[in-house]
Amino acid sequence: MAMDRNLPRIGQNLRKIRQAQGYSLSRLSTLTGVSKAMLGQIERGESSPTLATLWKLTKGLHIPLTALIDLPQDGSARFDPVQSSAKQFRDAMQFFTVFPFDPVIGSETFLHIISSGQTHLSQPHSAGVVEDVFVLEGTIEILQTDIWHTVTAGSGLRFAADQPHGYRNISDQPARFHNVIHYPKA
Ligand code: MN
Repeated sequence: MAMDRNLPRIGQNLRKIRQAQGYSLSRLSTLTGVSKAMLGQIERGESSPTLATLWKLTKGLHIPLTALIDLPQDGSARFDPVQSSAKQFRDAMQFFTVFPFDPVIGSETFLHIISSGQTHLSQPHSAGVVEDVFVLEGTIEILQTDIWHTVTAGSGLRFAADQPHGYRNISDQPARFHNVIHYPKA
């Protein structure tokens, strides 16, 4: 399973970030709502976290998603998604990192592949987070305050992602889209 290749990396990243912020497992559990036992299992690479769990960790630690799922960056502006492995979590669409988080511009960019008939709902991100979606191929719908907006290939949508939102593909063809996540400056 592709996910297994990411496990040690997520665990190592989490431990390093938690220790750098000076948190015990108990403190991190309180901050994120993820149990202490689960946090220990993730750090040791013994448990495959869901994407929803990883988003809880990013929220509690005030870090971007790529800080957990990708290798620490060398500062190169070029990041080839083909060279990074596909990210596959059991509760999410398959995706690739296109650009990992850049603290200067405050964003990270992903390429998502959503199958025909697939729906992915997301909990609110931290206050002020904004997402851009740009569809490369196919047609998708984005949920924003109870309304599904259709976005076709070549079109985009920018929306507040600090409220419940979602993505779905009700067409009979797979769709691919870029997703940029903008984090407000602390
Ligand atoms: Mn989201």
